[in-house]
Amino acid sequence: MSSKNDLVLVVEDNKASSDLMTYLLRAAGHTVMTCTDGADAIAIAGQERPRVIVMDLQLERMSGLEAAAVLAADPKLKAIPRIAVTAYAMVGDRDRVLKAGFQGYIAKPIEPTTFAAQIKAFFLPAAVRSPDGS
Ligand code: MN
Repeated sequence: MSSKNDLVLVVEDNKASSDLMTYLLRAAGHTVMTCTDGADAIAIAGQERPRVIVMDLQLERMSGLEAAAVLAADPKLKAIPRIAVTAYAMVGDRDRVLKAGFQGYIAKPIEPTTFAAQIKAFFLPAAVRSPDGS
């Protein structure tokens, strides 16, 4: 049985990518909720209090960067780790994302053999983890 304590919120507007992340996280024992937009992510985070939020940057209405900023400013939600999953792969993007309200950064394409472990690392206290979940 999964419990809410395992909940990961996946925010991704690309269905194939969302399906892959959901599959890998469920296979690793997590409960997963999904949505495709930053505004929906904020609403779900407030209702469901996921342990971790995994978020694409380019979304349908509100971007991942905007949503991360809103979450980071909310006293009740700011402690939930936010991990960007993005195809942006230019030099400097990782640092930019980590300064913009995310605690972690995973570059696409997702690596199926390590993705769930990278996310699981963010269930640990901040003091003992690194931004790429290693
Ligand atoms: Mn996208």
